[in-house]
Amino acid sequence: MNEILNHTIAELEEIILAYGESKFRAKQLFEWFHKKMVWDYDEMNNLPLKLRDKLKENYPIQSLRIVEKLCSEIDGTIKYLFELSDSHIIESVLMRYKHGNSVCISSQVGCRMGCKFCASTVEGRVRNLLPAEMVGQIYAISKDTNERVSNIVIMGSGEPLEELGVTLRFVELINHPSGQNIGQRHITVSTCGLVPEIKALAEEKLQINLALSLHATTDERRQAIMPIARKYSLEEVLAACHYFIEKTNRRVTFEYALIEGENDKEEDARRLGGLLKGMLCHVNLIPVNQIDERSYKSSKASSIERFKGVLEQYGVPTTLRRTLGADIDAACGQLRRRYLKKRGE
Ligand code: SF4
Repeated sequence: MNEILNHTIAELEEIILAYGESKFRAKQLFEWFHKKMVWDYDEMNNLPLKLRDKLKENYPIQSLRIVEKLCSEIDGTIKYLFELSDSHIIESVLMRYKHGNSVCISSQVGCRMGCKFCASTVEGRVRNLLPAEMVGQIYAISKDTNERVSNIVIMGSGEPLEELGVTLRFVELINHPSGQNIGQRHITVSTCGLVPEIKALAEEKLQINLALSLHATTDERRQAIMPIARKYSLEEVLAACHYFIEKTNRRVTFEYALIEGENDKEEDARRLGGLLKGMLCHVNLIPVNQIDERSYKSSKASSIERFKGVLEQYGVPTTLRRTLGADIDAACGQLRRRYLKKRGE
């Protein structure tokens, strides 16, 4: 189901030619899927009926179904729960900024990376998403709101570099001039730090943004909150980021979730400043989201300010992530967890 939506125009041409139709139909089909965001063959009125029937029979497609939608009254953020064709549930978020709409999408159903502060990993990874299911989240939100999406962050559930090929195909589809044509510079891939995959991504020399979930300044601390740190040391992760910068000349964003008493002391800030000083980077401080399954608490406002101030002394550009949708279960993965509990899973 839905596999045809992962295809490039060249791949669609093969299908079309095998049906004895003209090659230009492939571009038309691609435009229906990715520009007009129409996934129902019956609506594709510039394609011959015969072709539509064959496609319907051999390449069934099913849109993502909105099963729940929560709108923030504070800032217009909307959280969506989508049901996939095999009834799995994923979560996406629309955030409205002055500069345009940003959508945070999932790359997997669940996640097996085990980060201690994250609700998405509580039941592990169920499966990877298809590129079509990644673009589908954006199309469904765009159609539901009737608003254009101009920024994408792959920061919902899942580790997007685990299946690098899927993420690369997603970028190709969403960036395509015959589709939504969202610029690579408006796409951010967030990773917990898979070193070989960061290097492989760097080799692609794309202009997308890399966000690295750092969250600690020593291997010991990082290992305590992120199991992946047992596989790759901080030194290796930072070396991979340097490599990414060297290949792409793009600034790397380091995500740092502040957890009270865990990683928010002045000495942590100094160590972080020392590690990142002079690097083409930016730190995004995130007051950690409290989730039912874990006991972490968000840092106090005074600790956050102190942390930011120290980083600035080191000349490291730092921002504090604005908490959006605070009134609607904002934390990543929480809405889905709540829905699954309700469904008895
Ligand atoms: S933070 Fe990201 S990588 Fe870590 S468990 Fe959650 S979804 Fe997976």
